[in-house]
Amino acid sequence: MEQEQVIAEIASHYESIIRLLGDNPARPGLEKTPVRAAKALYYATQGYRQDAAEIMKSAIFDYAGSRMVIVKDIEFYSFCEHHILPFFGKVSVGYIPDGEMVGLSKLARVVNVHARRLQVQERLTAEICATVDSSLKNKGVIVACNAQHLCMKMRGVEKQESSTTSIEYTGQFAYNPALREEFFRLLTDVR
Ligand SMILES: [Zn+2]
Repeated sequence: MEQEQVIAEIASHYESIIRLLGDNPARPGLEKTPVRAAKALYYATQGYRQDAAEIMKSAIFDYAGSRMVIVKDIEFYSFCEHHILPFFGKVSVGYIPDGEMVGLSKLARVVNVHARRLQVQERLTAEICATVDSSLKNKGVIVACNAQHLCMKMRGVEKQESSTTSIEYTGQFAYNPALREEFFRLLTDVR
């Protein structure tokens, strides 16, 4: 289906939702809302139409270094798949090179591809780790994610200030706790 058709169809559903909520989709303030909301949702879920492995492959270079590389605090916005409410926060990605490195901005794009769809934080973290691990020669990949979930904050669970942390790792990070500690130390120490 063409993009315009998809957006028009999502918009027609938003119009019904507004009506079902008890408001009038034809009143001045809401007239263009279904289309605007459809476009916003389509944009925020563009990860379905992108390929994270391809993005990685587009910027892989030979590299002789063997020390940990970290990209810290990559901002992301996603939707929890249980409530279709936003969750958002920061992801930090580390890897130990094994003959290759990846353009740093690609890691941020990989985070976005996996975030911009219906997700759960745990799977988001695991998918980012798996994509980096499978498309870059490495001796270990580690991903830490900290996020706030509007489905917890808005629905009166009274966990307004809580945040959720998830972590995934492969290779040397799995069997060498000192490397995981180094990763977390670098996340907090380096300014
Ligand atoms: Zn939720």
